[in-house]
Amino acid sequence: MTLVNDAVAPTAPTAGRKFRALTVKHLDELTARAGLSAEQRLATRAVAAVLPFRTNAYVVDELIDWSAAPDDPIYRLVFPQEDMLPAQDVARIADLLRRDAPKAEIDAAARAVRMRLNPHPAGQLQLNVPDSMPGVQHKYEETVLFFPKQGQTCHTYCTYCFRWAQFVGEPDLKMAGDDIDRLRDYLIAHPKVTSVLFTGGDPMIMGESVLRRYIEPLLDLEQIESIRIGTKSLGYWPQKFVTDPDADDMLRLFERVVAAGKNLAFMAHFTHPRELEPAMVREAVRRIRNTGAVIRTQAPLIRSINDRPEDWSAMWRTQTRLGMIPYYMFVERDTGPRDYFAVPLGQAYEIFREAYQGISGLARTVRGPSMSATPGKVCVDGVVELFGQKVFALKFIQCRDPDLVNRPFYAEYDPSAIWLDDLKPAFADAFPFEHLTLGGSAAHDLAASGPSLP
Ligand code: SF4
Repeated sequence: MTLVNDAVAPTAPTAGRKFRALTVKHLDELTARAGLSAEQRLATRAVAAVLPFRTNAYVVDELIDWSAAPDDPIYRLVFPQEDMLPAQDVARIADLLRRDAPKAEIDAAARAVRMRLNPHPAGQLQLNVPDSMPGVQHKYEETVLFFPKQGQTCHTYCTYCFRWAQFVGEPDLKMAGDDIDRLRDYLIAHPKVTSVLFTGGDPMIMGESVLRRYIEPLLDLEQIESIRIGTKSLGYWPQKFVTDPDADDMLRLFERVVAAGKNLAFMAHFTHPRELEPAMVREAVRRIRNTGAVIRTQAPLIRSINDRPEDWSAMWRTQTRLGMIPYYMFVERDTGPRDYFAVPLGQAYEIFREAYQGISGLARTVRGPSMSATPGKVCVDGVVELFGQKVFALKFIQCRDPDLVNRPFYAEYDPSAIWLDDLKPAFADAFPFEHLTLGGSAAHDLAASGPSLP
């Protein structure tokens, strides 16, 4: 299969430009461009002291519609909103910033807020980490997640990120590792593992030579059938695969993975249909697919960013047209500013259903809305009336107990419920998963695939 130097790179303002992150230092200038007042800009900086902020010129110049900012969905995807955090927390930190308080004081105040935001939902730090293997999570029997140390940032941070704790400079909250030899030994000792998911952050922030050092040692392991890469690079920096200096080398690496007989799967995070419009992203998709890699798409459903059915049907249709496979609509996870972005489960189901009606059978590979909860990946399959009672029909797409996968179970309908924990069982005293124990090294939590959803 040939792949490189076979197409004219699309012309775009950022074509050929080196990636450069825009950070908190640039926040005031950028939010002024959105028309925010001085007080609003200060509040935005206060939120950005708690939650991570980072973006780049491609997102700023080619994705955001500044004439619609601050209500533009891509602006809201990237820029902190002052009501993402409790008003008293924002006011306290804004006051410290206004007074030019010592950095240590601001950091301490920000840290106190972070600790109230459930930094690692679904017990990720406790339940899934094999003994003394930082940066490794063994969630399902067949899947191991690896958080490569150099891949724990992103080309841009999403305001709703469920892995935000990776980016806030708190070593105790971070999952990251670099011992690929130990990972290899671990895989050999666990022959039922068939898939390794590189996640983050965004593994595609790494250069080819670094990624190669992680991937190559896995290629001769017969047991490994697929290598997955959770990434939002196609949405945030498609230049990675087209005009970056090592773009062609990267594609050659992908070819080698495929030639080794592995399914190389991009778990590509696209939040909004606008991310699929630039010629640069279309060219990146074409080049990646030419290597034999498969691109599956996923994103969480987020209030005020992508909560219209037409956004999802447009995404799924375009993705299918470009040769990608729609895979998941997730429910926003129970971490960070979740309450701000959450869409109630009943509404999420209706949005999914309406969007699903507007797509062809080829795009109906998508599943959702799905919650990556502690006992497993739970899909809201319907809202139905049974025995005179309105209920949620639910099922596990993955579960700690494989016997529960794909078996329907029911919960009382609650229009305000936003997560599994909010639900009460219907027609039973307990949910079928309540017997599952939540500890031990053999626990395989289920939050696989992550946004990017790295
Ligand atoms: S959701 Fe994914 S791409 Fe977005 S900031 Fe988090 S890890 Fe990065």
